[in-house]
Amino acid sequence: MRTINKQIIENIMTAYNKKRLKAAHDADKRKEKLYGEIPRLSEIEVEIKLLSINLSKLFLSSPENIDIQVNKLREDIEKLKKERKSLYEENNIAEDYLTPKYECRTCNDTGYSSDDKRCSCFNKQIIKNLYTMSNMVEMLKKENFNTFDINVFSNEPYKNERLTPRQNMYYVLEISEDFCSNFHNTNVNLLFYGGTGLGKTFMCNCIAYELLNQEISVLYQTSFSLFETVENHKFNKHTESEENRINYKMIFDCDLLIIDDLGTELSNSFTNAELFNIINERMITEKKTIISTNLSLEQLRDTYSDRITSRIFNNFIPLKFYGKDLRFKS
Ligand SMILES: [Zn+2]
Repeated sequence: MRTINKQIIENIMTAYNKKRLKAAHDADKRKEKLYGEIPRLSEIEVEIKLLSINLSKLFLSSPENIDIQVNKLREDIEKLKKERKSLYEENNIAEDYLTPKYECRTCNDTGYSSDDKRCSCFNKQIIKNLYTMSNMVEMLKKENFNTFDINVFSNEPYKNERLTPRQNMYYVLEISEDFCSNFHNTNVNLLFYGGTGLGKTFMCNCIAYELLNQEISVLYQTSFSLFETVENHKFNKHTESEENRINYKMIFDCDLLIIDDLGTELSNSFTNAELFNIINERMITEKKTIISTNLSLEQLRDTYSDRITSRIFNNFIPLKFYGKDLRFKS
């Protein structure tokens, strides 16, 4: 099932409301200015309003000669409208000068088109918000499956590994692409582990980009920023920023959470408890998580409590990254 974070929808609806209010406010300002310059227009508006009220009163009381009276009032209104039109023309004012200018002409910034479907501008907003919230817009343009180059990985045997780094990468790539194409149908989580500079973050970005294009909500956090977000939420409630509040909610609500560089945070009983809480909560609600770490499996076991590592080892596909550090290749 395709779930889009509620918070994102709320944010978008708030933005639409703001846009509509601004359009109305701008139109009011134009009116004020125009009526200041051509006071007769203001008089015409008042007169039309009065005549319209009289017209409705007439229908309510329905006197004997109603037709004659109605026609008279309608003629008067028409006359005033004609006068207004010629004033507009004389002064070179566009006919729709006083109507609110909406950014989207299809939905008038309501987000919904007339047949009650989401407007295309709404869907664009969702994607944009997902991107923004995943903190990685610029990075994703450079690092995705299309720019992934398998040839940077050596095809020579590496230490005691059964596969060459390139063969291994083909395997990682296949699992990762599968993860994306079956995102809604599997219960799989991924654990990327191995030394630095071997493409773990790059692979996370490839997956994020692919899923964001499917309108799946992705939150990318380094473990450092993740615990910072949690800490701000738990201990600085009064000064917590709106962004932090949303990020905290997203840690639990987003379809995919990517925790990069696990093990670089200052690990203590607080971070241990919170990490367990996050992983456990997401598993219960069937939301997927990718963890990337420079630690070996043994180091993971040494660093984190048993209940964390057993969750990870039982529910994540471990994918080892090995070979020569790619960042130092010429
Ligand atoms: Zn629209």
